[in-house]
Amino acid sequence: MSLSAPQSCDVVVAGGGIVGAACALACAQQGLHVALVEREFPGSGATAAGMGHIVVMDDSEAQFALTRRSQQLWQALSSTLPSSAEYETPGTLWVAADDEELAEAARKNVWLAGREVPSRLLSSRELAAEEPNLRPGLAGGLLVLEDAIVYPPAAALHLARQAQSLGATLLAGRSVTHLADGEATLDDGSRLRAPRLVNATGADAPHCTPGIPVKKRKGHLAITDRYPGFVHHQLVELGYLKSAHSVSTDSVAFNVQPRQTGQILIGSSRQYGNEDSAVDHALLAAMLQRATLYLPAIASLSVLRVWTGFRAATPDKLPLIGPVPGDPTLWLATGHEGLGITTALATAELLAAAFTGATPAIAPEPYLPARFNPACNQAHNQEAAPQEKL
Ligand SMILES: Cc1cc2nc3c(=O)[nH]c(=O)nc-3n(C[C@H](O)[C@H](O)[C@H](O)COP(=O)(O)OP(=O)(O)OC[C@H]3O[C@@H](n4cnc5c(N)ncnc54)[C@H](O)[C@@H]3O)c2cc1C
Repeated sequence: MSLSAPQSCDVVVAGGGIVGAACALACAQQGLHVALVEREFPGSGATAAGMGHIVVMDDSEAQFALTRRSQQLWQALSSTLPSSAEYETPGTLWVAADDEELAEAARKNVWLAGREVPSRLLSSRELAAEEPNLRPGLAGGLLVLEDAIVYPPAAALHLARQAQSLGATLLAGRSVTHLADGEATLDDGSRLRAPRLVNATGADAPHCTPGIPVKKRKGHLAITDRYPGFVHHQLVELGYLKSAHSVSTDSVAFNVQPRQTGQILIGSSRQYGNEDSAVDHALLAAMLQRATLYLPAIASLSVLRVWTGFRAATPDKLPLIGPVPGDPTLWLATGHEGLGITTALATAELLAAAFTGATPAIAPEPYLPARFNPACNQAHNQEAAPQEKL
């Protein structure tokens, strides 16, 4: 790690989570000189707390476009990832508890087929054959075959190191205290000048860019001892969609993941308005109970560790990727809520395309921060246009 900060560069990225590390790499791959500033070490924030499920979502066309594009980028990257990143493609099995949920699984199946995403509807019997530890009598499920898993902190570290190998400067253990008008100030008083500044500080992004619509959404995860073969796919209840959409109440959902080590990651919970990182034992108990409802034998497994993390949530469930109205040098890459591992690579691709004037692989408009301030959008576009290409 380099300790000496460059005085000027093409891009300063604040925050070395999976999103910031991916942005640094994508920019470095375009030949831009990048400084990546991380308060602790790469992958230490929400990225270390996340489950690492790389999942295609269908809440909206915009969410689909970003998750699917990013999943394809992960696939393309997978052969170069180190073994520590534990990349695998077990698929997601959306579990339908009753006929209503099975109808939703069938709808999703048709929707995904229309967008060339391989998936397969499972009957009750086929579901039991795929996952014998699920409770008997479930209605069926939907297997989405290209959904993957990764170990997020190792993946983030890899992306940061790749960026370094292409000339990026990593300033770890340094905080950005001010980020605007083409300049980043660090906690040691040093300054970095760049025509592009990227706020990728996750759930802390409003500290550097006050007023942006990002709130913390707390989550819990638990990990068991090693039980190889206990489950084979990422298992998620279809009811998850209801709980993930609730923006006001605490919620838990059945969401478990087989790790390469044989351990089982058990999730998940969602809480607003709780910025205390301590484990909430009542919510944890509800989360584990939910898992037991679907996988009764999970009650006999040993849980080794429990932790919490904070997702960066926006009001419309889409991330903020793009320029900040009023400051043509300042860009956001935050607000990825529960999908930041999935969408990091497509986020980075969008930013790098904007910085170099390349045609983006997907339309950037749905993710622009200016959607929360349409009047500024027009003004910003006029300001930003001449600097579109560095
Ligand atoms: C319980 C849980 C489960 C999840 N499961 C999944 C999942 O299965 N799939 C999925 O896609 N997503 C999942 N997520 C979401 C995912 O973890 C996040 O969306 C993602 O990690 C966000 O990455 P990030 O880089 O934006 O933020 P972070 O990882 O939080 O990175 C931000 C970085 O900025 C640094 N930083 C903060 N302030 C400053 C500053 N002033 N100066 C310098 N550095 C600073 C922090 O130290 C941190 O390293 C989950 C999240 C949680 C909490």
